[in-house]
Formats: sequence, structure tokens, C-alpha cells
Amino acid sequence: MSEAVLKLDGIEKGYKLGQPGEVRVLRGASVTIGAGEVVALVAPSGAGKSTLLHIAGLLDTADAGTVEIGGKALTRARDRARTAARRQRIGFIYQFHHLLPEFSAAENVILPQLANGVARREADARAADLLARVGLEARASHRPSELSGGEQQRVAFCRALANRPQVLLADEPTGNLDPTTSDVVFEALLGLVRDTGMGALIATHNPELAARMDRVLRLEDGVLKDGFSG
Ligand code: ADP
Repeated sequence: MSEAVLKLDGIEKGYKLGQPGEVRVLRGASVTIGAGEVVALVAPSGAGKSTLLHIAGLLDTADAGTVEIGGKALTRARDRARTAARRQRIGFIYQFHHLLPEFSAAENVILPQLANGVARREADARAADLLARVGLEARASHRPSELSGGEQQRVAFCRALANRPQVLLADEPTGNLDPTTSDVVFEALLGLVRDTGMGALIATHNPELAARMDRVLRLEDGVLKDGFSG
């Protein structure tokens, strides 16, 4: 495999539910994703996909196990190092786009770059390039409320990729779109990811979308297994 961009090893996570007891959601989940590899994460609702993605994205901490991003161990890193890694190495896409409503599509892609120290002119060019790749060059100056759901989600993809992350994590990225739009928008996402050569872990309920990725993992009983079933 090419250089590993994301490595999760033996991730365990439980939630306390008062007395007595705890739900063990993850019980030793492990995966290694290489640069340029697009991996589907499938499991029924409640199996722990979001929990796993949040731990991989350094938004939450595991009870046990290790997280490495771009070869760097971040499990027990200080908050500052985790925040820096999150900003520079990881792109996150949610089911709902969470775009800033008072800013244009282009500005939504530019702002995270400025926050990361990129010069304005370079950030503008990057935003224009990304929006063009998902067919939104003519919509760059529109605000989210002036865009369709599928267009808004494509802008969110561009925003997630703006700072050239090594790893893309996506939680049901087309889950709130109708099937036809979902298909088109998902193709746009795959194109972007494949162009940039990042590794991606994409949670989806949809087996047809999962089958278009390089590899399918299912989350079952708190561990990751290869393939759709059995
Ligand atoms: P999925 O994304 O596969 O639907 P989640 O990771 O959201 O699954 O949730 C997995 C399990 O953990 C569920 O049973 C859920 O109720 C529980 N859970 C998730 N977050 C919390 C939390 N903050 N506190 C308690 N239980 C939680």
C-alpha cells in the first residue's frame, strides 16, 4: 500500500449511561488507509460510525487504542497539536453542510484557508479551482440560501478540501439528498478525492455508493471487518 495517511489501531470507546453500565460502542476497531485510497464505512444506524469518525478526526478521544494521521501519532498529543492536525491534515464533511449563511460559496471555501495562514490571492485561486471542479464556477458568488441542496453540499466538499488535507472523513455526505442528486454529488466528491490523492473514509448507508469506493469496511460489534457482510 502507499504511505498510510490514517491509521487507527485497537480503538475502544464506551459511553456511560448512568448507573449501572456503559455502552461499549467500539471494541478494538482498526484500519489503515493509504494515500489515494477511498474506503467506505457501512453499518446500520447506531453501530458507531459517527463515533469512529469523530475519533479519527480528533474531535473526540478514544478510551484505548491509537490514532495516527500522516504517520504522526496524535492519540496523546496536546490539544494544540491535535487542533493543528485537525486544521491542516483532516477534512470533515457532515450530512448537513453547515456553510456560513452570510458568506458566498467562494468565501466559505476561502475563509478556512485564511484561518490557516494562506495568502488571500492563493486562497481565492484555490477556491475558484475547487468550485470549478465540482461544476460550480458560475455559483461562486452565491450565498448558500441561493443554492440547491446538492450545490450546497458540493460547496461543503470544496471547503473540506480547501486546506489540502491528507485525510478526508465524511459522515453520510449525501444522506440528506434525493437519490438522483445524491448520485451526481457523490460522483463529484469521488472525482475531487481521486484528483487530490488524499485518503478517505466515507460512511454511507447506501450499498451502491459504497460499491463505487476502493474498499468496503463494515462496523460490526464494535470492530471493523472487510466487505459488506459475513
Ligand atoms: P452511527 O453513527 O453508526 O449511527 P453513533 O456513533 O452515532 O452511531 O452512535 C453509536 C452508539 O453510541 C449509539 O447507541 C448512540 O446512542 C451512542 N452514543 C453516541 N454518542 C453518545 C453520547 N455522547 N452519549 C451517550 N451515548 C452516545
